[in-house]
Amino acid sequence: MSWSQTIQTENLHDQMTILIGSAIRLLCGEAGVFVVSNEAFDPQSSHEYTLYRLNPAVLPLLLKSIEESGRRPNSTCILVRNKLSSKVVDLLCQDEDVKLQGAEQCSLFVYDNAGELGVLHYLRSPGVRSCFEQEEKVEGTLRLFVAQLAAGLRSTLKSQSLVKEQGRLAAIFHHSMEGILTVDSALRIIDFNPAMERLTGWHESEVLGRFYYEVLRPKDRQGNEVGLQGSPILQAFAGQSVVNREMMISARDGQRFDVSVTASCIRSNKGEPMNGILNVRDVTLEREQEEERSTFISVISHELQTPIAIIKGYASTLARTDALLDAEALHSRLVAIEEEADRLNKLVGNLLYASRIQAGGLQMELAPLDLSHLVQGVVRRLQAKSPDFTVTLDLLPNLPTVMADRDRIEEVLQNLLDNAIKYSPRQRNLTVACKATGDEVIVSVRDTGMGISLRDQEHIFNRFHRVGESIAHSMPGAGLGLYICRAIVEAHGGQIWVESTLHEGSTFSFSLPRVEKAYLPMVVF
Ligand code: ADP
Repeated sequence: MSWSQTIQTENLHDQMTILIGSAIRLLCGEAGVFVVSNEAFDPQSSHEYTLYRLNPAVLPLLLKSIEESGRRPNSTCILVRNKLSSKVVDLLCQDEDVKLQGAEQCSLFVYDNAGELGVLHYLRSPGVRSCFEQEEKVEGTLRLFVAQLAAGLRSTLKSQSLVKEQGRLAAIFHHSMEGILTVDSALRIIDFNPAMERLTGWHESEVLGRFYYEVLRPKDRQGNEVGLQGSPILQAFAGQSVVNREMMISARDGQRFDVSVTASCIRSNKGEPMNGILNVRDVTLEREQEEERSTFISVISHELQTPIAIIKGYASTLARTDALLDAEALHSRLVAIEEEADRLNKLVGNLLYASRIQAGGLQMELAPLDLSHLVQGVVRRLQAKSPDFTVTLDLLPNLPTVMADRDRIEEVLQNLLDNAIKYSPRQRNLTVACKATGDEVIVSVRDTGMGISLRDQEHIFNRFHRVGESIAHSMPGAGLGLYICRAIVEAHGGQIWVESTLHEGSTFSFSLPRVEKAYLPMVVF
């Protein structure tokens, strides 16, 4: 039976009620309750009861009254009788089904060779005696009856605790975040948990009974077929240990992804494999993080080394006593040192910025902002710094005010303009445009530079992503600028995107909500 099939506990409960009811009837009782002893089964669970024709509301009072009587049966004296208090009798007599004229309460100790199972408390009319109590040899007959009752109860209670255990395991199977798949000895799938369904896109009903190898089509990390003999469950069947083995499996749509699998085997008494269990963990994210870490190290070390080498080179020249530099040469070297120091400073600033974004602590100070004023200021400064670039301004008159953090938006614009200049080695024309839609204002920076391929456009806003061409042309950069721009714009409730054609140029645009549309307060990510 698959774990996904619901386990029926009701039948076992009915069985218990029938057993207790018959026993009470044979003892001439009208109603009663069997209280399972704690030690008998599950020591963690509180007492469990099986009621027979007894209103659950009466139970606490009845048990209290039994306890107060201080007379409890045990293995020496297996049956004790008590007179019930009139309060309990009154309550019991309100139940039309239970016909008691006054009531006597009996408690029968139920046990077997393995120990106590519990106590059967039952109620009957005073003076009534069961066949087990009418002769001298009462004890012997009653003990025989108890032995039979105990055998029936023990097996029902055992089944109940097995069903509970099975329920617990089924819950683990269903709610596990790891994919779990089990197979029979012929490697046909018999269980496929919801995490496995999410991972692979297969529904359990589609894979039950299918050969597991065909469903997962496992390959090694290099993409080579592992073959049936090398497949994890067969290796576990062969007695090999398969723990956290990295491989690739296929989803329903044919897409492959990295997983770490652990396989184990359940064997028969003779040691033959009966079932195989495969635990599957998706490690795509871990892989991406690993890749990101190694990119980070190589990008950062390269980006740090370059300016340091330049600064060191110029500084060494200046420090040489025999270097006879005229004022112009001296000035140009000092300017170069200053530029490289700025570059280092920017890199460290960006790294700190990125780590703050990742930690989720980027707070925006939003206020109404006149974008055309800000754009004109940034462009003016840029032209002063890079006079060989022509910047055309295309601003809509009466541009609506936006809700934004002035300094942060200035950083975004500055970054886009720096990139437009950096990645336009030959073309010297830029355009900055602002337009408004019903809900937002859109700012665009257009260059006629090297452009970005469609494939790269998908990734350039990710951390440390740099396009191969810019690396090949030794253009400085750490792949953090656009990541930071996106974080800032999205924190404003806006969007950033690129339209580009390779070798023709790019247009980077971002949108910001108009002041009347902005929702406040805007914070973090
Ligand atoms: P950085 O410029 O420091 O490398 P960015 O995050 O600003 O980092 O940019 C990521 C990558 O996107 C750059 O390395 C470059 O390859 C590409 N890119 C960004 N802006 C442009 C642009 N205007 N034209 C062409 N490529 C660009």
